Amino acid sequence: MKKISILGATGSIGTQALAVIGNNPEHFELGSISIGTNIEALEKILESFRPKLVSVMKDTDRIELKSRYPDIDFTCGREGLMAVATDDADTLLTAVMGSVGLEPTLAAIDAGKDIALANKETLVAAGEIVMERARENGVSIIPVDSEHSAIFQCLRGEDLREMKRIILTASGGSFRDLSREELRDVTLERALDHPNWSMGRKITIDSATMMNKGLEVIEAKWLFDAEVDQISTILHRESTIHSMVEFVDNSIMAQMGTPDMKTAIQFAFSHPKRLPMDNPMDFDALSQLNFKPMDLERFRMLALAYDALRTGGTMPAVMNAANEYAVNRFLEGEISFLEIEEIVESRMDGHMAVQNPDLDTILYYDRLYKSDMR
Ligand code: NDP
Ligand code: MG
Repeated sequence: MKKISILGATGSIGTQALAVIGNNPEHFELGSISIGTNIEALEKILESFRPKLVSVMKDTDRIELKSRYPDIDFTCGREGLMAVATDDADTLLTAVMGSVGLEPTLAAIDAGKDIALANKETLVAAGEIVMERARENGVSIIPVDSEHSAIFQCLRGEDLREMKRIILTASGGSFRDLSREELRDVTLERALDHPNWSMGRKITIDSATMMNKGLEVIEAKWLFDAEVDQISTILHRESTIHSMVEFVDNSIMAQMGTPDMKTAIQFAFSHPKRLPMDNPMDFDALSQLNFKPMDLERFRMLALAYDALRTGGTMPAVMNAANEYAVNRFLEGEISFLEIEEIVESRMDGHMAVQNPDLDTILYYDRLYKSDMR
């Protein structure tokens, strides 16, 4: 029996993780959870689960909830995230959105928890520190992101030194068939309409700008100890092949399946074992698999992510923070779609990267570049 705590239980990944836990009561049990401000979604969770501790964002919510659910412990804010991250669970699923997940993830690693990692922004901001800390504490970081779960599965039993190249597949997001010119006046509503996956708002926008693939390139670097030049990307509109690994003899291993995050979530929990699932791939509905080279001029954000990774130091953290800031403004209706990448690019241009940053330096730049900077 594995006890799993969840950061971000009310989100897209969090909700699907709760379904996986609920479907496998003989294998998994829920520890503690954190949410943001979605109290309605929390109350739905409490109809089926009794977490030991619940962390919310606002103290007023904490007080109100405690009066209604006296048998559950409630906490809040940053302290609350740390408490959930370090409770008595075996594994922590990090499914919060954004770099707010960094400090609790490190606290969980220090407390000896294995990490099921969905929160890619944490590895983008501080991959070197997180992976080093995991090695020191002997804990595993198991990817939940479908591409990285695929690569992780393709590498099982392989010698990493024989890996030639990682090939990340990209569906292309909501605007994959539009030219740059046509991107000029796309609406928020259209950006939020992803063709293959139903996900949280921020990652859906990241998929449309292709920053999501950029974040995933950096995530892959740290998870699989790869060099920048070993990580490539390819457009694959069906999202059936979740990613591939090419070996030195040019053999390619691909992992495929129904595009359903529950498969990757469940594998992150059950690893090294596999458990049955109810979403088999329907080959009758699949007539072809398409591949197209990635155009780095069209998908400028992906080029920026490669630049950030090559520059190293604080640059990936700055890119991530600028992107969180810009996407948030787009979601608030304050800027246009193409202004997202203008903001990210200009903030990266204005930053002189600090090499080998410690955690405080990363947190400082994360806060700075997520702010208005006025
Ligand atoms: P959602 O926006 O759906 O959920 C985010 C969760 O984090 C919610 O529970 C939200 O709480 C909580 N949250 C948001 N901001 C804060 C904050 N400042 N402090 C504390 N809690 C907060 O996101 P997703 O589930 O889509 O994504 C989560 C992570 O997983 C992201 O890093 C994403 O890139 C990654 N990921 C997601 C995939 C997907 O299919 N969705 C696929 C691969 C990776 P509330 O809603 O209660 O306010
Ligand atoms: Mg992904």
